[in-house]
Amino acid sequence: MALFDKVSGFAKNASDKTAVMFETAKLNSKISAQEKAIAALTLRLGEYYLAQCDAGTLAVEGEAAEICGEIAACRQNIVSLQAEIEAVRAARDFDESDTGVKFCPECGEALASEARFCPRCGTKQE
Ligand SMILES: [Zn+2]
Repeated sequence: MALFDKVSGFAKNASDKTAVMFETAKLNSKISAQEKAIAALTLRLGEYYLAQCDAGTLAVEGEAAEICGEIAACRQNIVSLQAEIEAVRAARDFDESDTGVKFCPECGEALASEARFCPRCGTKQE
């Protein structure tokens, strides 16, 4: 094979590879979008069943009943944790209006009250 043929053969081969990689990346991106859609729909499906479970309009059993029970336990934990917050604040006569400081709920970093992102972990602040 002449050198020219070798070189043009290599170039064709390389551009074919690039084209295949490009097509593959595009298609993988579409697959990823579909997987995200499935995850969002799965969440909606769960919320649909949970709402029916809460309303008592659906007889759940087996694993679904276990999951509904775990969610109920989590909700109870939230109520207890909110009561703890109230207790901690009440015990120290806390007034958050003029402290100028808040804490990142994700990592506990002390932040200026106007901070919009945590500089330590990057979590968006409310
Ligand atoms: Zn943080």
